Amino acid sequence: MIPYGRQWISADDVAAVAAVLESDFLTQGPVVPAFESAVAGYCGVAHAVAVNSASSALHLACRALDLGPGDCLWTSPNTFVATANCARHCGAQVDFVDVDPDTGNLCPRRLAAKLERAAAAGRLPRVLVPVHFAGQPCDMEAIGALAQRYGIAVIEDAAHALGARYRGTRIGDCRYAQMAVFSFHAVKLITTGEGGMVTTPDPALARRLQSLRSHGITREPAQMENDSEGGWYYEQIALGHNFRMTDIQAALGLSQLRRIDAFLDRRRALAARYDRRLAALPLRRPVIAAHTDPAWHLYVVQLAPGQRRSVYTAMRAAGIGVNVHYIPVYRHPYYRRLGLRREDYPQTERYYAGALTLPLHPQLDEAGQEHVIETLQGALAAP
Ligand SMILES: *Cc1c(COP(=O)(O)O)cnc(C)c1O
Repeated sequence: MIPYGRQWISADDVAAVAAVLESDFLTQGPVVPAFESAVAGYCGVAHAVAVNSASSALHLACRALDLGPGDCLWTSPNTFVATANCARHCGAQVDFVDVDPDTGNLCPRRLAAKLERAAAAGRLPRVLVPVHFAGQPCDMEAIGALAQRYGIAVIEDAAHALGARYRGTRIGDCRYAQMAVFSFHAVKLITTGEGGMVTTPDPALARRLQSLRSHGITREPAQMENDSEGGWYYEQIALGHNFRMTDIQAALGLSQLRRIDAFLDRRRALAARYDRRLAALPLRRPVIAAHTDPAWHLYVVQLAPGQRRSVYTAMRAAGIGVNVHYIPVYRHPYYRRLGLRREDYPQTERYYAGALTLPLHPQLDEAGQEHVIETLQGALAAP
């Protein structure tokens, strides 16, 4: 089976992990801050806080903003459920903004209209989470301007977008947001097995995130309410979680990050080759918006809606791990029960109906890619 995504582990990665296994620290030790500094430096942002998954990172980012009951978070429905679940974990409501049918990203025009209606009704969201779908940056300039006008905090879900650029700088620098969240799940741009990271330029948010990922405990005298009772003393100042990353994971992440540019080059080359080789087929190739340099986490084509299921089935039967990104979040029974309705998101419905994700990962070679293309050609020609 040719998978749609896959990690690439080198001998150096294995050696880096083995070195930690033989060191004094298995849990959060000196390698976690080294990995955090490396990601912060790569993204061009002051602070990065590592956690055990992007799902935890989203939850923690919402907690750091004090999102809670009575609040609402808006996001894109064309995403993994974790992007919306973070609000529910905080007791907040969720609503969605329909996508741009070209890119599958949250549409700033639809956002503007929805904000105007929400402002008139006195029901503005507290937090907005744009998702850089497939690794292509959202129109952050427009989204950031709207968020600022209405006083809404922005968390970028950058799970697909490590290394992507928008208007010349890297996603994760938070030029238009309070925080950005990355995933290091095995199929993402780099991996730590499971793992995630929050980046932020704001030192106060970074301190909140650090405390909340470790039970709400602090050892910093400046943050304590009482005087220290001795060297052992620490205080729990909020209700936090155990969302820590291990040094084992951080060592893998640090080693992987050294190869990020090679990974991205390879993804770019494969995407360009798909673009050339699929040009004559009856499908829509990914549309790249102005001012964006995508990380190419996914290569999603649009088929005629009536064809998607049979093409998916034929390609799977031929050993090609095509996939569908995403089942819109409002379609899941849990969100339907909360009153969300597919009729409100016609562009997302259209995008979902035709979407098919083709295999794309740095170890996919040209012969493998050619096999994908020829099988797709055959499946599209089948009656
Ligand atoms: C993978 C993913 C997540 C969750 O990441 P985990 O690290 O698996 O928790 C969140 N949002 C998006 C868009 C993702 O693709």
